[in-house]
Amino acid sequence: MRTETVPLSGPSPGTTRTLTRHHWGEVGARPKVYLQGGLHADEMPGPLALFHLMQMLDTAEAEGRIAGHVVVVPLANPIGLSEWLLHKPVGRRDLEGAHNFNRGYPDLAVLVGDGLEGQLGPDAVANVATIRAAFAKALAGAKIETEVDELRIRLMEGTHDADIVLDLHCDHRAVMHFYASTARPEMTELLGRSTGSVLALIEDVSGGNAFDEAHTAPWRALRERFGDKVPAACFSTTLEYRGQGDVSDAVAVRDAEGLMAFLAGVGALTGGPVPAHGPAEEMPLAGAVEFIAPFGGIVSWVTQPGDRVSEGQVLGHVTDAALRRRVEILAPTTGLLFRQELWTTCLKGQGLCHVAGMEIRRQGDLLSD
Ligand SMILES: [Zn+2]
Repeated sequence: MRTETVPLSGPSPGTTRTLTRHHWGEVGARPKVYLQGGLHADEMPGPLALFHLMQMLDTAEAEGRIAGHVVVVPLANPIGLSEWLLHKPVGRRDLEGAHNFNRGYPDLAVLVGDGLEGQLGPDAVANVATIRAAFAKALAGAKIETEVDELRIRLMEGTHDADIVLDLHCDHRAVMHFYASTARPEMTELLGRSTGSVLALIEDVSGGNAFDEAHTAPWRALRERFGDKVPAACFSTTLEYRGQGDVSDAVAVRDAEGLMAFLAGVGALTGGPVPAHGPAEEMPLAGAVEFIAPFGGIVSWVTQPGDRVSEGQVLGHVTDAALRRRVEILAPTTGLLFRQELWTTCLKGQGLCHVAGMEIRRQGDLLSD
């Protein structure tokens, strides 16, 4: 195991931060699998699972079972971790510009596309190496204005050449689910069986250049431009490790074991373990629909994440006790109620829950900001 400390220059005089990456296996060994947690710095189930995963990787290394290159960044967002406001962690957005830490990553296909004209041949393996070298050059020359820009680029310098990138998040109150493109269905299936995710939300381009998409969309775009001599060389996904309150060692150890099964399944480890679950149910991200509060008030539920619901079914209530009025929270589609908001109050116009269904109901930017 080797630990790498990446400096971040800090936003103001006298301030610096660091990013810590841990490596198992040889640089250059394949597959290169990168795992990070805490990009939204108020989401701690992933970092705790990675803490336990790292102990398991130490054991696997002592047993000579590391076959690929595994990189773990357990706390990917030192900026967000330091941001507390009014005695609460903020974590999701930077306090300076209110930008979501998981949006706005560079579009590598745009940055390297023109430079690759005439550079790619019939050998897909050689093309992957050429494209990854172009990604590295683009990141080295990327314009950095803010501290958050710098974090984005430093993170991608560690990931642009990875075969697999797993970004561990969590939701407010939720069952375990993840987001995936259609590019590598066998990986999606393995990830579901390894982690025990209930649901996989499938979409090729969700919008907003989230961290996972910044690793998959460029290969898709370059394939569209240069043809099938460009493979889908990176599988990347955002995993939602249930809700913000689901932080415990017992659950985190099981989640780490699931990640070990995935690492073994993709060949980064030898000697197992094997996946312990069935596949995740796959539904289109465009079929996941939100209920919007028509007025502000008290939020209460008669259902919970994981419930199967029918369109129009009562899921809970928004109550304005001052005006003595109440509205039912109705299921916006038929399917799986997979997440609810954490808060017991809401403002008018806020989304309160999502139901995933098979029917396409949305288009455009598909992620909640
Ligand atoms: Zn998140």
